[in-house]
Amino acid sequence: MAARQPHIVIIEDEPVTRGALASYLDSFGYRVSECESAARAERLLAQDEADLLIVDINLEGKDGLEITREQRARSEIGIILLSGRTDDVDRIVGLELGADDYVCKPFNRRELLARIKNLLRRTSAMRQMTRRVVRFDGFSFDLAMRHLQKDDGALVTLTRAEYEILRVFIGNAGIVLGRDRLCAAITHRKDASSGRTIDVLIQRLRAKLGDDPRNPRIITTSHGEGYVFTAQLG
Ligand code: CA
Repeated sequence: MAARQPHIVIIEDEPVTRGALASYLDSFGYRVSECESAARAERLLAQDEADLLIVDINLEGKDGLEITREQRARSEIGIILLSGRTDDVDRIVGLELGADDYVCKPFNRRELLARIKNLLRRTSAMRQMTRRVVRFDGFSFDLAMRHLQKDDGALVTLTRAEYEILRVFIGNAGIVLGRDRLCAAITHRKDASSGRTIDVLIQRLRAKLGDDPRNPRIITTSHGEGYVFTAQLG
């Protein structure tokens, strides 16, 4: 069976750059979709899963940084930013928001191709490693795809921090986890995390799980110690 072609989505409002890049990547056997705006990309991604996004920082409407933040909250999809020469700060912000890499315009196509290959290798290895679906209390949680789904089919959207916390709970079910341990689990904003951040996150997570805060059955408070995941895992 032939290997599945990775699907790359280019979000770039300059048609010449976009078209040239699309045909270049197409010639290397990738499946490429072109979008001129965030709105178009969102419609596409709702129906067609992508492996990697190439996102221009400067877009009309929702810009590349906002796209990065939103997509990263949702999934571990590979994200490479295209940045203009004067976008130093935006480039750094982009990486902080979870972009994996960037190239500066005018970019060398071979360099971009090398970065794409590296990133696809990394993300596909990670998906293989972590592909695991856990079931608990009327939910199924796909750790690789970051999907939390109710048994009735409804998808529950998690932020990156909520996802990371839930993953740590599931990996340590039945064990009381202190706020420090939970803070450490929020990998992308260690410095900003505090016990209070964790309490707020737990409140939000309980609300999304339909867990009654006065009598929780999924995430239980262990007074003076922290929290413990008490749902039965299937
Ligand atoms: Ca642009």
